[in-house]
Amino acid sequence: MPIRVAVIGGGAAGLCAARYLRAKPDVFQAVVYEQADQIGGTWVYTENVGKDKYGLPVHSSMYQRLRTNLPKELMMYPGLPITEGGRTSFIKHTEVLQYMNRYAWTYDLHKCIQLLTRVQSVKPIVNCNKTSWEVTVKSVKDPDATPQVNEFDAVMVCNGQYAVPSYPDIPGLETFSGKVIHSHEYRHPEDFKGQTVVLFGAGPSGRDIGVDLHTFVDKIYLSHHIPNLDALLPDNLRQVPDIKSIDKGRVVFTDGQSVEADVLMLCTGYLYDFPFLTPECEVVVDRKRISPLYKHVLHTKHTSLSFIGVVWTISPFQLLACQVRFAMAALDGTMVLPSRTDMDADAQCDYEYRRDELKYPHHYAHKMDHLQWEYNKELLRLANVVDDDGATLPLFKELYDATIRLRTEDLVNYKKRIIEISDDLTSWQVL
Ligand code: FAD
Repeated sequence: MPIRVAVIGGGAAGLCAARYLRAKPDVFQAVVYEQADQIGGTWVYTENVGKDKYGLPVHSSMYQRLRTNLPKELMMYPGLPITEGGRTSFIKHTEVLQYMNRYAWTYDLHKCIQLLTRVQSVKPIVNCNKTSWEVTVKSVKDPDATPQVNEFDAVMVCNGQYAVPSYPDIPGLETFSGKVIHSHEYRHPEDFKGQTVVLFGAGPSGRDIGVDLHTFVDKIYLSHHIPNLDALLPDNLRQVPDIKSIDKGRVVFTDGQSVEADVLMLCTGYLYDFPFLTPECEVVVDRKRISPLYKHVLHTKHTSLSFIGVVWTISPFQLLACQVRFAMAALDGTMVLPSRTDMDADAQCDYEYRRDELKYPHHYAHKMDHLQWEYNKELLRLANVVDDDGATLPLFKELYDATIRLRTEDLVNYKKRIIEISDDLTSWQVL
């Protein structure tokens, strides 16, 4: 009997899981549950904010004019070149979605995807030494329908990490007389014409939105605590320290300066959220650290429960492919796992390395950045995967580093650059 796998979510991670699971029909049988009416996850742009047409919280964090912040040449799943967008490298979100749809058709994934089906709960059922999973799903279209309970041998959690905004605690925020929004709800720069906007947070969202806004607004204050960006920035953007407090229309920064602002946009990131995991799953989310996870993927006690795509600052499309194949190897026995104690020790060691050697704060527990390339290789090595399917080509690291350099030099114009790669994926140049 094939191993029955429930995949939660039909975004980039869930599609990738479906692709590799379906490639081994004798070993695995996959069902992908997706709550939306189409695949693509965060790449499904919507004008809606708050609730979607089915009354669910809006999942996508895309804004209308968003172009990718990685070149498309880095955003290809192993095995399927990305041609969308013609010669352009930093493509529109609609083109990423087209690519994901083409991926799904190429690998015939629709056969195993159930749209408009929301996973309500996931519960382990432990029988002697074997754990199976009770997965309860509900129709999104027909909320009165009785929930369906299905049994699986494994669960892959692929529900994304950019859907539930994280809100900072700012003294006086409630007194702000202007508009406060989270970047999750940002859609159009036109909405802020002629206004003074404080962007709080200089991560990818704060920086990208600053550039998207700059030709429409009067002034932008980019408030953050990282070292000052010395890229070419919009003329009307000024960097200021963190926000200390708000006093009606004034935003006060930690150095004592203050500005009158019309808008405070919180580019303060997102929270992990797994509302469907019952307490029996024994998953702990402690301020952006998910435990107990071996190699950021496998639950160390219930190893048939895996998390695909919780790491961040990554080039996702190759990394997801490595994580999926790692999780599959744990299920079909291709990989013999260490003891639970050893896996927990490994996870702790990884955390301490970040904390003590890299000086990362606690909430960087799943941050990858320069670690991702060796991590990808390690996952495939541990999983005894012989054919990496092109997931670990040196090209990807080179392109990633080159993109960071372009962005660091010129935040305003880097997305106009074109990257050309050779057909055999060994060389590249930036035009
Ligand atoms: P998602 O795309 O979020 O998919 C999760 C899916 O799970 C969704 O479809 C959701 O509806 C579904 N789901 C959730 N809960 C349930 C449930 N209970 N039941 C059923 N279904 C459920 N990456 C890049 O490579 N390049 C970029 O330029 C880039 N830009 C980005 C810009 C923004 C604004 C954001 C937010 C992200 C960006 N990313 C970028 C990262 C992006 O998140 C990844 O590319 C990728 O889309 C992650 O896929 P995912 O499947 O993990 O999550």
